[in-house]
Amino acid sequence: MRLTPEQQDEIAGQRGETRPTRRATVPALEEILFQPLPVLDHGFIRVIDYMGDDAAIVQAARVSYGRGTRKVSEDQGLINYLMRHRHTTPFEMCEIKYHVKLPIFVARQWIRHRTANVNEYSTRYSILDNEFYVPAPEHLAAQAKTNRQGRGEVFDPAAARRVLDLLRSDAERAYAGYAELLNEDGSGMPIDPTRPGLSRELARINLSLGFYTQWYWKTDLHNLMHFLSLRADPHAQYEIRAYAEVMLETLARWVPMAHAAFLEYRMNAATISATGLAVIRRMIESEQVDQRSSGLSAREWRELMTILGRTPQR
Ligand SMILES: Cc1cc2nc3c(=O)[nH]c(=O)nc-3n(C[C@H](O)[C@H](O)[C@H](O)COP(=O)(O)OP(=O)(O)OC[C@H]3O[C@@H](n4cnc5c(N)ncnc54)[C@H](O)[C@@H]3O)c2cc1C
Repeated sequence: MRLTPEQQDEIAGQRGETRPTRRATVPALEEILFQPLPVLDHGFIRVIDYMGDDAAIVQAARVSYGRGTRKVSEDQGLINYLMRHRHTTPFEMCEIKYHVKLPIFVARQWIRHRTANVNEYSTRYSILDNEFYVPAPEHLAAQAKTNRQGRGEVFDPAAARRVLDLLRSDAERAYAGYAELLNEDGSGMPIDPTRPGLSRELARINLSLGFYTQWYWKTDLHNLMHFLSLRADPHAQYEIRAYAEVMLETLARWVPMAHAAFLEYRMNAATISATGLAVIRRMIESEQVDQRSSGLSAREWRELMTILGRTPQR
């Protein structure tokens, strides 16, 4: 992650300001407010603003005139109940705004989450930085054999070097072409005054998915947890997961009770089908059940055995 001295000064300036307020603030989140938290090689996440805290969830659930909070254990119990029973609207009372710098291919997955407000850096208006994502060698792997969407065996060092060389040289060539098409220096003056520069909205079309873009992304706590349940999950692509994991840390600082309930009832919990439940009941009754007698497909059987921490048997 690289920030210019001007960007660092702007962040320090914002972090240096405080304001008196009657609104709820969360000291653990205030601690990292505006601070870029590095993700991947050039990316980051910054918490820019937030509204509400654990007490706001409780307050809305109790439709209270005051803060609505009681004993810590009662508040945690209520939040757990809301999470367990998918009573989701109290979680929508809290909001958070992030500034995210991310590769375009990650942004394409991320933007599918429609229940957020997004404003992206405009490359019709501004020039994209010469920053592109190069995976760390340990993340370079072959196509997975079992899961058609994922990665399998990690490349040996020679194969990894070849991939990295190709990724770097292609991106450098693409950026050099972009700069040539734009034909302008940092202050907007032509580099070669004898030829016209192409408009920014057209010059960008040759850049590839590994280049970094940026956006402001605002959502409420309910939809943030929905996003995290999908993108912090092991099935999500590593690169978007890397962002989701950092966001999970911000969640723990912001709303520790909701975070605990989220881990307990969503992230580390499992959904089991009616047939799967019947299999578990038969197992509890000491019945020998295998995939053929379970009524589950081979895939569902594998998934159930993984949830139960058992070695799948056919
Ligand atoms: C592991 C993984 C693999 C994926 N693979 C693919 C893929 O191959 N191809 C692909 O195209 N996408 C893929 N996706 C994207 C996925 O299908 C969803 O688009 C994405 O996860 C956003 O989820 P969402 O719609 O629930 O979120 P949001 O857009 O934030 O919506 C949240 C919820 O609001 C409701 N909602 C929002 N908008 C509408 C609407 N217009 N109508 C009805 N209900 C709505 C739904 O209940 C939805 O669950 C993948 C996602 C994951 C996590």
